[in-house]
Amino acid sequence: MATKDNLTAVLYGIEDMRLEQRPIPVPKDHQVLLKMESVGICGSDVHYLVSGRIGPFIVEKPMIIGHEASGTVLQVGKDVKSLKPGDRVAIEPGVGCRVCSFCKEGDYHLCAEMIFCATPPVDGNLSRYYVHDADFCYKLPDNVSLDEGALMEPLSVGVHACKRANVRFGDVVLILGAGPIGLVTLLSAKAMGATKTIITDVVEGRLKKAKEIGADYTLKIEKNMSEEQIVKTIKELLGEDPNISLDCTGVEQCVRVALQATKTGGVVTLVGLGKFEMNLPLTSALIREVDIRGVFRYNNDYPTAIEMVKTGKANVKTLITHHYKIEDTVKAFHTAKTGEGNPIKILIHASADWKP
Ligand code: NAD
Ligand code: ZN
Repeated sequence: MATKDNLTAVLYGIEDMRLEQRPIPVPKDHQVLLKMESVGICGSDVHYLVSGRIGPFIVEKPMIIGHEASGTVLQVGKDVKSLKPGDRVAIEPGVGCRVCSFCKEGDYHLCAEMIFCATPPVDGNLSRYYVHDADFCYKLPDNVSLDEGALMEPLSVGVHACKRANVRFGDVVLILGAGPIGLVTLLSAKAMGATKTIITDVVEGRLKKAKEIGADYTLKIEKNMSEEQIVKTIKELLGEDPNISLDCTGVEQCVRVALQATKTGGVVTLVGLGKFEMNLPLTSALIREVDIRGVFRYNNDYPTAIEMVKTGKANVKTLITHHYKIEDTVKAFHTAKTGEGNPIKILIHASADWKP
């Protein structure tokens, strides 16, 4: 490689993000070297910056940030048959051990040995160059942009959540929370055939975006609303009970509302990561045979996410509100942290030739 510039965003600890040069990595036989393009900021990245940890995952040594990313293949290892230089790809950031029973059964997202970009101590990919296992890089169709490619990571969470909930044509779906994850879950539910959708949030702007991307109903949750009132209003707006609810907040009140609003015999799917322990009305849910399902990231969902965008079933472009170049990573994280300018999805552009 002629260049030696591998500018990289490294989180050293709480409120300590630095840009520095790192050596350009060399791909192993099953890997590809990527010229990195668009990298989205996720709530978890901001959490590591502000708190230095998420549960048991603690930033104890400098860690490269970034995991919602796309890139262009520059070089392939000798065993790589699926990709060639010039291919534009979406990067699935977590790779399992490939030998445990979960990995062998395809549930690699549940692998205890998974290495996942920017989950300490594993480095992420907000850098000019990065290497990744070739089979976790998905070639983008010509009509899908590199910015959309970066959005395949959160969209895969929405796809996986809706697959877990078994959303199908005719379903009436309640989504709690219209942050990036609630919005990609809405896009996925619509693409999978949900015929009526309602989404809640406490922020008006987020509900406006939800309407724009196809929510049939929105409900702004006011501070003084009781749980009973929220449940009643959801049912009144829909004209019936939602048979599937997906919590995308992790907020106790929302999980409680989901358990009570869901139709008898329906499904509550929990995507939001909140308090470790919650006070929940479980008995009323169990005597109505409401199923409760967890969601952890995604497995084998990237191809579906890419197809949804390729065929126009999910417009993720409209979720992108802010663009920064990698040199301005600290500014980009400031916007994410403070919410100034009402960001939904912020992209950082890692390539030296990116132009706004
Ligand atoms: P976010 O914080 O941007 O979105 C949460 C939304 O919920 C916000 O818009 C907020 O205004 C809204 N909200 C807060 N209180 C509410 C209330 N009482 N009623 C209705 N809405 C309320 O976060 P995000 O990036 O969209 O992620 C959502 C959640 O999903 C987070 O908890 C995140 O950790 C989790 N997550 C889980 C997985 C997984 O694999 N399970 C993957 C990614 C993210
Ligand atoms: Zn494994």
